[in-house]
Amino acid sequence: MSGGKRIVVAIDGPAGSGKSTIARRLAERLGFRLIDTGAMYRAVGLWALRAGIPLDDMHRLEQLAREAHIELRGSLPQVFLNGEDVTGAIRTPEVSEAASKVSTVPGVRRALVEKQRAMAASSSVVMEGRDIGTVVFPDAQVKIYLDADPEVRAQRRFKELQEKGSSPGFEELVREIRERDRRDQTRADSPLRQAPDAILVDTTGMSIKEVEESILKIVRDRTSNGKEALR
Ligand code: C5P
Repeated sequence: MSGGKRIVVAIDGPAGSGKSTIARRLAERLGFRLIDTGAMYRAVGLWALRAGIPLDDMHRLEQLAREAHIELRGSLPQVFLNGEDVTGAIRTPEVSEAASKVSTVPGVRRALVEKQRAMAASSSVVMEGRDIGTVVFPDAQVKIYLDADPEVRAQRRFKELQEKGSSPGFEELVREIRERDRRDQTRADSPLRQAPDAILVDTTGMSIKEVEESILKIVRDRTSNGKEALR
């Protein structure tokens, strides 16, 4: 897109609601930059685990988040932490758990929100996470809150992990997702919630294509120059 106003498409929702898949496809269709903020919390979680920093040491975790050089490249996206490709390393259950814990630390959130705003300063973006429409970009032109039944979300994660070659226990996965949701929704700083002006899309019975098309329609309706951006 050239010339026009910078557009922010904010996509929030719980784990397994379809955010990553949908955000990736939307970014490709719109020609916008994709910013997966969960990958950033995962990168900090990974670094903390490797450095042996206790996940309740708020001061050192904040320092780590400030010092972390995090780069998101391309439409996968590829994730680089201090120059190292950690795209695969941040997707383990241990790192999911660590990310969920470090994300409750206000100083970590402050540091990463700053980085997220800077990343979106120069181009239109599709940004996905938990607090994009509420905290990071409360003025985003398009805000979507994706949700789905917990069992369906667990099934999606199960399939995703199987495709990557691991064999997680289903019950364990349901427990893990519930625990992460509980932590995200009850933390004091930037809890996961639907922004008052966000549009709720329940993806339980929808195909990826249906979700993608319905959100593209919303983007088109909400942005004066959205049409130009559509291929
Ligand atoms: O989206 P994903 O599952 O990769 O995110 C990993 C963790 O990072 C989440 O469980 C959540 O606790 C945290 N997160 C967050 N705020 C965001 C994105 C992710 O707290 N904007």
